[in-house]
Amino acid sequence: MFKRLPFKRIKWPGWVVLILLGIFIVIGIGKWVGDSSAKGVQSKDKAETTIEFKQDTEETDRYTMLINTPVIENSSLAEAIQEWVTNQKETFLSEVKAEKDNLGSGYRAHLTIQVDAKKGANDTTSLIFHSYHLVNKVSGENYVKMFTMNATHERLQLTDLLTNYGETLDAIRSNLKEQLKQNDKIKNDLINQKLNNVLQEPNTWNWLVSETSLIIYMEKSKITENKTGTIEIKIPLEEKRAAQRERSILKSGEKYVALTFDDGPNPDVTPRVLKILKQHDAKATFFMLGSQVEKHPSLAAKVAQDGHEIGNHTDRHINLTKLEKSQLVKEVLNSRQEIEKATGQTPTLIRPPYGEMNSEVEQVAKINGSSLILWSVDSRDWKSKNAKAINEVVLKEVVSGSIILLHDVHPTTAEALPKLITTLKEEGYHFLTVSQLLLTQEKYSAGTDYGKS
Ligand code: ZN
Repeated sequence: MFKRLPFKRIKWPGWVVLILLGIFIVIGIGKWVGDSSAKGVQSKDKAETTIEFKQDTEETDRYTMLINTPVIENSSLAEAIQEWVTNQKETFLSEVKAEKDNLGSGYRAHLTIQVDAKKGANDTTSLIFHSYHLVNKVSGENYVKMFTMNATHERLQLTDLLTNYGETLDAIRSNLKEQLKQNDKIKNDLINQKLNNVLQEPNTWNWLVSETSLIIYMEKSKITENKTGTIEIKIPLEEKRAAQRERSILKSGEKYVALTFDDGPNPDVTPRVLKILKQHDAKATFFMLGSQVEKHPSLAAKVAQDGHEIGNHTDRHINLTKLEKSQLVKEVLNSRQEIEKATGQTPTLIRPPYGEMNSEVEQVAKINGSSLILWSVDSRDWKSKNAKAINEVVLKEVVSGSIILLHDVHPTTAEALPKLITTLKEEGYHFLTVSQLLLTQEKYSAGTDYGKS
């Protein structure tokens, strides 16, 4: 019953398009593929997927509909999509009916359904539908729906995926709930009853899976009284997958050590440290301050590009045990966001400033899917500021499995480094990142408290 019409025959107010653009930005998913919105009927994605999209339009005196859908052969997924689209149309038509006296004679209601495809990890693709209803209102209603499928276009349910990843649904639920309760943008508007209802129905959630995270897009209207739009929550899945990936590189009977550099990135010292590490083909871990990453994002990105691990040393280097819970969360989250923004890496390690922590710090680390990391050898580089003294302390205290505390903010630390690495190599040590080292010790779990006081 749908007529095929060229796109341009429907007169869209310019601000509808602007609002749609706004929605995509608010949702904040980068790298869209397969966007069929502007090209009319049957646009084919060039890059990663082989999904085709079709566009149906319908117009009457009272309304216009523009509906993009993917051409999917798998019947159960196609049915699920069709069911959702039909439901959107029925809802829209009943809204039109209710407003029928105000529609016509030049003013029409609009329904727009756009779809995009985004590639996830392990050959998954998520189809992301945005439905926009505008019925005689100044601002319309947005609905988001996502379907995730495997390489053969079969629909994946979140519960199947979690089983495959060995994650438990309860752990995901409590993580999701904690993150929402700590999120400044939404925590004061949450309705517990609504939230609990949504949490009970994981197969209705909008989600996709990246290399490191399960990303859930919650419609605010489903968990608050009157907020609209979507909130994105990232739940790290890194641990178990990283564990599988990296276990193979470790050999028993070898000696391993992890160099860690705190308080950077620093424009004078960090590039020197990177250069020395590269010359010796050694990998290290940099516990960065969010406030420093914000000042020197390209330097942080360079550290990541060189293959080093990046940990979170909080935003401003404040003793976390002295902070109110909300401030503590902010210190951790702000820094994590700066690091993600600059490097594309989500840190899975937190080193609390001064090694100070308590049960609240542990809880916040856990919610972030992160391990708390201290050190076992303090080079005291911050105190001696002397290359020879740094070497003496470290070489005296080091054993296999040591995590060595250094700071890439003192030039003397960079000065000490060539000798330190050469000597450790002569003694048979291999250099690992902290995450790799923890695997050798089978202590790799959220909340790990490693090191001596
Ligand atoms: Zn520090």
